[in-house]
Amino acid sequence: MKVRLFEIFTSVEGEGILYGTKTLFVRLAGCPFTCFYCDTVDALPLDSGKEYAIEEACGLIDKELQDKTFKVNFTGGEPLIQHDAVAEMAKHVQSLKIPTYLESACFDSNKFSHVLPFIDYVKIEFKTVDSNFVDSKHYPNLIENTLDCLRYCVSSKKITYIKVVVSSKTKVEPFKKLLTDIFKVVSKEDLAGFIIQPTYGISEPSLEHLLNLYDLVHPYYNYVRIIPQLQKLMGAP
Ligand code: SF4
Repeated sequence: MKVRLFEIFTSVEGEGILYGTKTLFVRLAGCPFTCFYCDTVDALPLDSGKEYAIEEACGLIDKELQDKTFKVNFTGGEPLIQHDAVAEMAKHVQSLKIPTYLESACFDSNKFSHVLPFIDYVKIEFKTVDSNFVDSKHYPNLIENTLDCLRYCVSSKKITYIKVVVSSKTKVEPFKKLLTDIFKVVSKEDLAGFIIQPTYGISEPSLEHLLNLYDLVHPYYNYVRIIPQLQKLMGAP
């Protein structure tokens, strides 16, 4: 089995419920989607990065893994494009007794279910319709897949949180509909967090807009938090 990695490095987790933790990031190459706020554009081409045999990739993880690392993130690009390889690498990391973490757009629940047994922490990212991840015709299918991923996480009792990236383009009505769909599938007790993440450097939402969106989540999940990307503020990768 082969895997295409874009880069592997240690930094500070800058997003979500585990921000601030020392993390080894394994960034897989390739993503066919088109979010307008994507901040890893160099890793989008499917032929970016370098190809490794899976044993070599696991060896690279061993070499790069620093003492006292809290977790290993499989990120991208879009890691599910290479789901078999992610499952193998995550299995290897778990054998080292280090927690694994998946950062995916959850666009394919079949691929996701293949990787999930080897993941300890899951961020389920719901893309808003205005993200430009896919066109509006394909958006309902994306949300169905993401909801299925969420169902799988909850039924397998993974530590799961939800993240939604919002911008000045995020409209209230579709956001409300998204919340209704999400909380038909989960209750607040199922979640370890609900994070609203503002875009950085492009179509940034105003504080007023962020607080409006926060107020919409609050009735469902009263510990909702607005957290910008810490790594951007630190100038870290
Ligand atoms: S899914 Fe992630 S990597 Fe792909 S375009 Fe969107 S933000 Fe970028």
